[in-house]
Amino acid sequence: MFRQHALPRRYAFRWLLAATIMIIVPAAVAGVAPAVPAEAAARYVYLTFDDGPSTPYTSQIVSILATYQVRATFFETGANVTAHPSLTRLARRGGNSVQNHTWGHKNLTKLTWQSFKYQVRAADSAIRAQTGYTPRCLRPPFGAVNSKVYSRAASLGKTIVLWTLDPRDWSRPGTATITRRVLNNVKNGSIILLHDGGGNRSQTVAALPAILKTLKARGYRFRTRWC
Ligand SMILES: [Zn+2]
Repeated sequence: MFRQHALPRRYAFRWLLAATIMIIVPAAVAGVAPAVPAEAAARYVYLTFDDGPSTPYTSQIVSILATYQVRATFFETGANVTAHPSLTRLARRGGNSVQNHTWGHKNLTKLTWQSFKYQVRAADSAIRAQTGYTPRCLRPPFGAVNSKVYSRAASLGKTIVLWTLDPRDWSRPGTATITRRVLNNVKNGSIILLHDGGGNRSQTVAALPAILKTLKARGYRFRTRWC
């Protein structure tokens, strides 16, 4: 039985040749596969913009996002939504998410329960009036949280969303510095904090194209938060 399976020498060479082709050809094909490997294509980040909407920055940012076909999440204050309702509607375009950043940018750890409820619900109504939905995410101003803020937010049906990457764009360190801080520290799942309101955000706007272009080239996808 065993001898029956032994290959004559002339067949052995052909098998060796076939086996070599089977190994080399797929390797060569893999070599010309797309530049973004499969695991890199699964990488994602969340771009978030706080303190808007404001003019002229929100519309500039929305336009850059559209150019790069990227979506972001805008954490807006109710006061700014009421001052610039059309900018909130604009921010929603292209699938961006608009979420709650309180009515008046208050430190939630310092409020009574009555004030806390007012800050969250008044921002909810302002956003709902422009978007048609009630935000489910709450970003506490200054990132100020404690266990009471978490439990109060939960009782109002809100999920708190902070961030994991802060290039401190609000301090206006320069366009190149904002870009470098994001690109040097970004990783899979990063929640990147930027600002489209609260002051002069021209450096943030100027940094955005290089940030988006590079992250896309690295294979990152852009997700939005809805909670
Ligand atoms: Zn803020």
